[in-house]
Amino acid sequence: HVDGLAHTAHKKVVAKDGRPICVAANIGNLEDLAKALKNGADGVGLFRTELLYMERTQMPSEEEQFVIYKEAAEMLEGKPLTIRTLDVGGDKSLPYLKIPKEDNPFLGLRAIRLCLREPDIFKTQLRAILRASQYGNIHIMFPMISCMEELKKAKHLLEVCRQELDRENIRYDRFIKVGMMIELPAAAITADDFAKEVDFFSIGTNDLTQYTLAVDRMNESISALYDSMHPAVLKLIRMTIDAAHRASIPCCMCGELASDERAAALLLEYGLDEFSVSLGAIAETKSILLKSITT
Ligand code: PEP
Ligand code: MG
Repeated sequence: HVDGLAHTAHKKVVAKDGRPICVAANIGNLEDLAKALKNGADGVGLFRTELLYMERTQMPSEEEQFVIYKEAAEMLEGKPLTIRTLDVGGDKSLPYLKIPKEDNPFLGLRAIRLCLREPDIFKTQLRAILRASQYGNIHIMFPMISCMEELKKAKHLLEVCRQELDRENIRYDRFIKVGMMIELPAAAITADDFAKEVDFFSIGTNDLTQYTLAVDRMNESISALYDSMHPAVLKLIRMTIDAAHRASIPCCMCGELASDERAAALLLEYGLDEFSVSLGAIAETKSILLKSITT
């Protein structure tokens, strides 16, 4: 089945109105990236860096991270590499980092909240990403932003890292793109404000669905209620894309809905610019999009 799709894997998708549509991959490490490229990915829309942190017994150093991000950027040969900053907490824990026990971890100290609480960990990663950025087309993306103050703080720490590197005469891409995930209803509803502060959006429908419908994405007993095409979720998606375009920034989707056949035509109609999907879904997503564009 997948072999039959091989011919579409490396095709470029262009919307009816002539807009190029990027079909990128979600990856967790360099092995994933190698597969993604083989499968025809136009770039990486989501590098889930937490896997680098979870696979070891101590915090990865700036140098260790730098080497991996640089390698990834070089492998992509100029195609975009969107690196998401550490998203742990919720269901993902780190053996060497104590997160206080919480009754509702998905509503707790997670992702950007944790990084802002632990600025040294955050800055180590930001410095590694910045240093790698001169070797390719790297974008930085912040997860789980709920309010403007978080975004401002994250951007401030990034600026502090840039100044440090300037003082140390270390080069980085001065025009590196900085974006945020829209995965909380609050962020989607206030997307117009956020759009003025970032270079791109990426919609995380996995969490957006969970938080909009109050349905735990891990709880199988209520999985029938977990519907990323619920009208409320679709409305938030549409609001986000519209807000992005009003501010002339692109909007990507890196949640699972991006590879859902039932949603493709609708997302194209909403004007989504980029679909970032799991490794096995790249060729299939291209084929679905091509089909819905020609019919
Ligand atoms: C999402 O929430 O849709 C997303 C892509 O992030 P993750 O699945 O890693 O939480
Ligand atoms: Mg998420």
